[in-house]
Amino acid sequence: MKKIVIALLALLACGTGQAATPWQKITQPVPGSPRSIGSFSNGCIVGAATLPVESDSYQVMRTDRNRYFGHPDLVRFIQRLSARVSDEDLGTLLVGDMGMPAGGRFNGGHASHQTGLDVDIFLQLPKTRWTPAQLLRPQALDLVSRDGKRVTSTLWTPEIASLIKLAAQDNEVTRIFVNPAIKQRLCLDAGTDRDWLRKVRPWFQHRAHMHVRLRCPDDSLECIDQPAPPPGDGCGAELQSWFAPAKPGATPPVKKTPPPLPPSCQALLDEHVL
Ligand SMILES: [Zn+2]
Repeated sequence: MKKIVIALLALLACGTGQAATPWQKITQPVPGSPRSIGSFSNGCIVGAATLPVESDSYQVMRTDRNRYFGHPDLVRFIQRLSARVSDEDLGTLLVGDMGMPAGGRFNGGHASHQTGLDVDIFLQLPKTRWTPAQLLRPQALDLVSRDGKRVTSTLWTPEIASLIKLAAQDNEVTRIFVNPAIKQRLCLDAGTDRDWLRKVRPWFQHRAHMHVRLRCPDDSLECIDQPAPPPGDGCGAELQSWFAPAKPGATPPVKKTPPPLPPSCQALLDEHVL
């Protein structure tokens, strides 16, 4: 009986019921000079750096998931951004998932975050530091109204807008994904300084966090960048299309069978996972 209960609990814990991927078996970065390989949603990383968990300017959430690895550029970006946030007295940066030690595909939750160049950052900036228990069970702050049309004004703060703008102004950042309602609020409040808005892209969910993506590093010859976002601030028709009723694509795209791995990532798996 006890076994059945444990099995049921295990099934529930898996949530989506998806099987573990081989990448989850790699518990340490693969030694080597840093290289992001492949694309954000089909790739891996050699020589990943570990984000130091101790910092005065940021805190790392859910360290038990072992997802605080990335290209050294990503670690430096987080340190740079959190220092700016701290200098401007905006609060403490809360860092969520980066990538696994060798990158690669998760068993659920993220399609990307595979090459050590993506990081999720909470859109709340606590003035007092979170306790270890809070960091392990973070309370997400849903900033978007239930109908998805606007941010909840009692929760929205200028500090959150400043955080997104600081990240977007970083030269190594190519895209930031936020909920369409959050993008809309940024568009309304931006005034005449609007160039940074181009990098802020509307996407499903992302109601409590932003997803920041860096460009392929110079040392990563097999890294595949996305095309640049279309010109302009992205506040016009494209953004409005997200709010139109019954828009095709209003539900998240159906998951397809993953494409074959880049050969260097397959070789890495063959070498490191039995
Ligand atoms: Zn993300």
